[in-house]
Amino acid sequence: MLDIEQYIREIPDFPKKGVSFKDITPLLAHPDALNTCAQELLNLTEMQPIDKVVGIESRGFFFATLLAERLGAGFVPIRKPGKLPFDTLKQPYTLEYGMDALEIHEDAIEKGDRVLVHDDVLATGGTAQAACRLVESLGGTIVQCNFLIELSFLKGARKLSKYEVRSVLTY
Ligand code: AMP
Repeated sequence: MLDIEQYIREIPDFPKKGVSFKDITPLLAHPDALNTCAQELLNLTEMQPIDKVVGIESRGFFFATLLAERLGAGFVPIRKPGKLPFDTLKQPYTLEYGMDALEIHEDAIEKGDRVLVHDDVLATGGTAQAACRLVESLGGTIVQCNFLIELSFLKGARKLSKYEVRSVLTY
């Protein structure tokens, strides 16, 4: 059995002092680790019917796209302000190291769509919460929020308490 944790590199004090950054690039670069993670994330969904997988910029895009393909769903990007070219909906949020906002294309989710929200890391939960709000504003239903890594000591799952939250690895 492949040990996923071996492929996650800890970068102390990045992007600022006190943050221990979980760098998943070694994992992405390793074919078996990449495939194992995609499969484990897929297993978390228990193959519930999903119409759209929403990935959060930018590290959420990698596995959200793989998951969408494996689930037979569409992929929808949620991005930082000013990146999406069409009409957008915007949601401000706070994160472990600062304040930001996220945007989604207004036509990306159809009313009643069953949505899986994915990001690489769940830290304080502000980012995923903002993503869920955007999806719900467009009439989507959140089926699950899933993450490769949950930093449980930051209690992000509390902000997502009304949703099903699943993670491959918990620190
Ligand atoms: P949060 O809103 O605090 O849950 O932050 C989650 C977002 O910030 C995700 O998009 C992560 O990619 C990123 N992030 C936060 N903390 C870390 C960390 N320690 N290592 C890697 N990424 C992080």
